[in-house]
Amino acid sequence: MGECNVIPAPENFELFYAFAAGENPGVTQVIGAMVAAKKPFTPEILSDLRLRCLSGARAARAMDNVGTGITQVIDHVLVRLESAGRHAEDYTNTLSAATGELGANQSPDDMRKLVEDLIAATKAMEEKTRTLEGELQKSSEQVSDLRGKLDDVRKESLTDPLTGIANRKAFDAAMDTGMLALGEGENVCLMMCDIDHFKKFNDSWGHQTGDQVLRLVANCLSDNVKGRDTAARYGGEEFGVLLRGTSLADAIHVADQIRLAVQGRKLVKKSTGDVLGTITISIGVAQFAPGDSIEAVIRRADACLYGAKRSGRNMVLGQDDPRAATLVPSAA
Ligand code: GH3
Ligand code: MG
Ligand code: MG
Repeated sequence: MGECNVIPAPENFELFYAFAAGENPGVTQVIGAMVAAKKPFTPEILSDLRLRCLSGARAARAMDNVGTGITQVIDHVLVRLESAGRHAEDYTNTLSAATGELGANQSPDDMRKLVEDLIAATKAMEEKTRTLEGELQKSSEQVSDLRGKLDDVRKESLTDPLTGIANRKAFDAAMDTGMLALGEGENVCLMMCDIDHFKKFNDSWGHQTGDQVLRLVANCLSDNVKGRDTAARYGGEEFGVLLRGTSLADAIHVADQIRLAVQGRKLVKKSTGDVLGTITISIGVAQFAPGDSIEAVIRRADACLYGAKRSGRNMVLGQDDPRAATLVPSAA
C-alpha cells in the first residue's frame, strides 16, 4: 500500500488484505493489473473497487450463511416430524391392540391393566406432542431470525457504506420506478449534486476528513428529502436525488435549500478542533419528460450541473436556465 501511495485507512486495508490473501479474484485481477501498469490508486478507483468487489463478496457470504441456516432448520424439522410420525404410529398400534382385547372376555383386573396401559401411552404421546410443538416453535423463531438477516443483507446491498444513504444500485432502481411514475402522469425530477473544489479540500485536510464531508453532505440531502424521494451517493463525491411528485420549480427550491444547508455547516476537525471553513455544492436539476430515457434525464441534469460549475459554483441551475450547458462534458 505504501508503494502505491494508498492511504492506510481501514477500508483500504480490507481491499489490500483481500489482494494479498488472493481470496477475491476481482480484487486480485484489478489491483494486480494496476500495480503492473504503475497506475495511481485514486480515491474514485479505490471506492469503485470496494463497491464492485468487496460489497458483492460480503453480500454473497452473508447469503451463504442464511442459506446454510435455512437448510439446517429444514433438516431439523424433517427429523422431528419423522420421529413424531413414528410415535403416532406406535400410539395407533397400541390403541388398535386395546380395541382388539376389549372384545375378549376379560376380568376387571385385565380391564384395569388395559386402561392403565392406555393412559400411559396417551401421556407419552402427549409428552412427545408437546416436545414437537416446542421444537417447531423454536424452528419458527429461527426462520424469523433468518428472515431478519435476509432483510439486513438486502438493506446492506442497497446502502452506501461510507455515508449510510442509498447507493448507486438503489438509485438506479429508484430511477426505473420514477420512469414508471412519469408514465402515470406524475411529476418527477432529478438533481445531480457535486461538491465544489473537493480535490483541494482533500489535498489540504486529508482524505479521511474529506470522507467526513461526504457524510455531512449526505446528511444534508437526507434531511431535505422525504417520503418516496431517494437521496443517493451516485459515485465519488457526486450525489443524485430523485424527487417524486415534484415540479421543476419545486425541485429547484428543494435543491437550493440543500445548497444553503451545506453552505451553512461550519466544518471543524474533531481530532484537533481546527476550523476548516465551509464547503459548497453545485446542483443541476432536470425534469423527466414523456419519451425521455433515463440516460437523457441524467445527461440534462449533468449539463445543468456543469453550467452551475462554469457559472461560479455554489449554485443551482434548472434545465430551463440559459446558463445550463448544452454540451455534456466528460467530467463535471
Ligand atoms: P469541481 O468544483 O469542479 O467539482 O472540483 P473538484 O475538485 O470537486 O472536482 P474533481 O472531479 O476534480 O475532484 C473530485 C475529487 O473528489 C477527487 C477526489 O479527491 C475526491 N473524491 C472522490 N471520491 C472520494 C471519496 O470517496 N472520499 C474522499 N475523501 N474524496 C473523494
Ligand atoms: Mg467536485
Ligand atoms: Mg466530480
